[in-house]
Amino acid sequence: MAVDSSLAEMHWKHDLLGSIEVGIVVLDKNFDVQVWNQFMENHSSIVPSMIQDKNLFEFFPDIDKEWFTRKAAPAFSLKSPVFIIWEQRPYLFHFKCNRPITSQADYMFQNITIFPLASLSGQVEQVCLVIYDVTDEAVSRMGMQALNSELEKVSRIDSLTGLNNRGFWEEQFVMEYKRKVRSDSPSSLLMLDIDHFKKVNDTYGHTAGDEVIKAFSNIIKKSIRETDCAGRYGGEEFAIVLPDTPVANVEFVSERIRRLVEKCTLVYDEVEISFTVSIGIAGFKNTFKDSSEWLNAADKALYQAKESGRNRVVLAQ
Ligand code: GH3
Ligand code: MG
Ligand code: MG
Repeated sequence: MAVDSSLAEMHWKHDLLGSIEVGIVVLDKNFDVQVWNQFMENHSSIVPSMIQDKNLFEFFPDIDKEWFTRKAAPAFSLKSPVFIIWEQRPYLFHFKCNRPITSQADYMFQNITIFPLASLSGQVEQVCLVIYDVTDEAVSRMGMQALNSELEKVSRIDSLTGLNNRGFWEEQFVMEYKRKVRSDSPSSLLMLDIDHFKKVNDTYGHTAGDEVIKAFSNIIKKSIRETDCAGRYGGEEFAIVLPDTPVANVEFVSERIRRLVEKCTLVYDEVEISFTVSIGIAGFKNTFKDSSEWLNAADKALYQAKESGRNRVVLAQ
């Protein structure tokens, strides 16, 4: 009778281990496998009789032995469960992902729990690994992250020129202003505006005008350093902050931009288009009450460049 009931118990345990949709692996202190359920067999093609009493690391040499031994240690010594989530390590067992719906994943993402299994005397001689397939969750989370970073990029980049858009540029500019208030190092601001741009649009058409804006942006990109921050401020108006740069150096950069623009000939629809630019410069002054005073100073210098004949660089007084 006793034999019957323990046999029956073995049966339902076997059925239970076979039917659940998680991996169950029992390991002893040497990491020899004591239990290997159907889920593990299905995904590894290793049947329980093959791996029974064999060392886990011999069957799975790509498991980082030192890391895993360290991870499992608290389950043996402190009798506390251990959790390993896919964000830490995507998987413990390298199983193929065979669901077409999550075809973006090449392998199964896994969360792992390691439970201590105490004997009647209270000693932990074995631990139980539970392997959860979290591929769907991981794939959708990663997809969301990729989408978010793409959205973030889109929201700060001007689509025509690839430069920072006005909103993002202004954020950077205000940050630079705040940094300057607390430091002695110089910083400069440029405002640039294409001359008689309305005439370009009127003469060659709006699409040609767009090409002029793009060509001008490319000249800006080529002329500044990585630490400088350029943005499209309005239609054909641009702004550049040059951190840690005195106006004397900026006059040189501005003059170079002005000359490159003057020399540039754009061919659009077999027609040659030339254009020029006016530039206003304002160095940071600690008498500015806020960032917009700095911006106004550069804008005023730009206005003077326009007033005094265009195609020139003017430094704010
Ligand atoms: P100024 O020398 O005084 O700067 O003269 P301007 O003709 O450039 O004067 P203004 O700044 O008033 O004109 C800008 C024109 O740029 C007006 C607008 O129709 C045009 N514009 C604004 N955004 C775009 C754009 O994205 N593409 C094109 N093609 N034109 C634009
Ligand atoms: Mg203009
Ligand atoms: Mg303008």
